[in-house]
Amino acid sequence: MATKSAKNQLKEYKAKRNFAKTPEPSGDKKPPKRKQLFFCVQKHLASHLHYDVRLEHNGVLLSWAVPKGPSLDPRTKRLAMHVEDHPFDYGEFEGVIPEGYGAGIVMLWDRGTWTPETDDVGAALKKGDLKFTLNGYKLKGSWVLVRTGGRYPGARSGSDARSWLLIKHRDEWAGDLDITT
Ligand code: MN
Repeated sequence: MATKSAKNQLKEYKAKRNFAKTPEPSGDKKPPKRKQLFFCVQKHLASHLHYDVRLEHNGVLLSWAVPKGPSLDPRTKRLAMHVEDHPFDYGEFEGVIPEGYGAGIVMLWDRGTWTPETDDVGAALKKGDLKFTLNGYKLKGSWVLVRTGGRYPGARSGSDARSWLLIKHRDEWAGDLDITT
């Protein structure tokens, strides 16, 4: 399967933003070489509070907006809207986004490394079933993102927003502690 270059992957990210106005990264910086893949979760107080889960893949951050945030309880499936890839250095971003796309406050809520439970992340994304392990400060252990099919009811036509579920697998890091309060 042909892989989109990081430049093409960020086309939508760039199209949505005016970098003369927003302090968000422009997406022109290349990620440094490291052994492990980066992940982060940003708490985003926009028109609706949500948590942006971002997983590094092919030099960009695959991104899902999770309205209720991650749950450590395997019985609690959290809606995760697949949104546009973000630049690698977005993972360090915190700040205030002025009026316009994503307006509000972004805070880093968790960060660390992630390990896909497959050698072919591209195929897992296509299939809509991505299993992975997180090693962050708050989120650890085994998780899955599963596409539920169909478009998010609120999504504009032509947008690639799609609904997935973020689910914690049963392991020693699962539990009923509510980590978002
Ligand atoms: Mn967001």
